[in-house]
Amino acid sequence: MNATLSILMILMIIVTIGSTQNYKHSNKPLMLLVSFDGFRWDYLKTYNLTNFNYLKSVGSHSEFIYNSFSTVTFPNHWTIVTGMNEETHGIIQNEMFDRDLNKEFNHLANESQTIEWYGQNKQTEPIWITNQKAGGGRRSAAEWIGGGLSFDDQSAIYIPYNNSKPYKELIDQFIALYVRDEEPINFGALYFDEPDHTGHLFGPYSKEMEKKLYFLDETLGYLINELKTHHLFDDLNLIITSDHGMEEITQKTAIFLDSYIDTNLFNAYGSRACYSIFVKNATDLEYVYKTLSNIENIEVYKKEDIPERLHYKNNVRIGDIVIITRLGYGVYINNQTINWKINRGDHGYNNNQSAMFPIFISHGPGFKKNFTIDSFRNVDIYPLMCFLLGIEPAANNGTLDNVMDMVIYNKIETHFALIFLLTSLVPITLLMLGSIFICVHRKKNSQSSSEPIEENDIEANDCTVEILNENLNENSPILIK
Ligand SMILES: [Zn+2]
Repeated sequence: MNATLSILMILMIIVTIGSTQNYKHSNKPLMLLVSFDGFRWDYLKTYNLTNFNYLKSVGSHSEFIYNSFSTVTFPNHWTIVTGMNEETHGIIQNEMFDRDLNKEFNHLANESQTIEWYGQNKQTEPIWITNQKAGGGRRSAAEWIGGGLSFDDQSAIYIPYNNSKPYKELIDQFIALYVRDEEPINFGALYFDEPDHTGHLFGPYSKEMEKKLYFLDETLGYLINELKTHHLFDDLNLIITSDHGMEEITQKTAIFLDSYIDTNLFNAYGSRACYSIFVKNATDLEYVYKTLSNIENIEVYKKEDIPERLHYKNNVRIGDIVIITRLGYGVYINNQTINWKINRGDHGYNNNQSAMFPIFISHGPGFKKNFTIDSFRNVDIYPLMCFLLGIEPAANNGTLDNVMDMVIYNKIETHFALIFLLTSLVPITLLMLGSIFICVHRKKNSQSSSEPIEENDIEANDCTVEILNENLNENSPILIK
């Protein structure tokens, strides 16, 4: 009697789990990382962005997060997906020089998109590679800087950045990868180039920015709806973040270095808010340093004196001298004509300036609802993603403890337990049937030897339960490290 009841209960569990998985997607933990380039944290306070607010109310968010110095696009996007400081991974500017390679890097040039630049540190590993290396059918897609590169013979499905592709088309492309029949992805990294572009053209306080933010809010609404339509919204951990903020610049705050010094004495790599200066002749170093130090509204450091808190010193790609421009000012190497009507915003300044802080909003089975977490550094996002994906992180500078307050532990355990049950359905069923057969067989034998029937019924029931628990306990601890 009890053995029959056990079979019925097991079948009910299987049917219940099966009914929640009757749509197509990977049976591995699901995650989507999204960046809106240049999304300054307080845009969310200034404007009533319905879909961003909705996501905050149903998920976890930080009012802002601390990004890495220099606060520019390529370095911070590489930090988000590797968990490494810029001096550690080596993408320290959008434009840079490597003395060892004797080469220049330009973020827009195809020839710069190579492993010698992005893999300077051999321990560098973007999250989409870490995900795939964990195996078990895990698959990643990346529309992100460095997304086309191979690490340890692994490469993600790469969707090259295309500034003419409509955002909704890009979203559709990712959704299709999550729900396709063959090798559905369980991790995606999705990049949008706004509101950065509008910020550079018109500044963070402009009407154009307001309009663009409402467009991005509509884009987020489309993403949420598509995730819901494809039964992904409640099962997928979604992270919305950015690389940096934006500040207004004007003609009055422009600084032309050639008004102060012979700029032929050095090569400068970077952009208006931060430069690495490589002095051509070592004997000129002191002169260049002292002359630049006398210019108002810029901070000038010899490489060895760069503040430790910036984590921006220990790399051959950082120059002999580093210039950090005062917020709202812009340094140009040589005097030039600038159309100030469409050069109204910039970033790259010190990462202790709140105007540079980006957003962080998350939602999914691993995140608390309507929860606000204290601000953390963007190096912590990589270990957070690894934890939610149930995979071992590669070497990184992040700290998981900083982000765990927003994570739901038991939901993750339950989630992984369900996944385990599904993936192990056949062996578990066989084991159970086998054990029930043995127990029933024993029962028959004991009945024939005239032992009490009641005791043997209990024994049969215990056999079944023991096997289920054994399998769950064996596998769940690995997933909640
Ligand atoms: Zn950017």
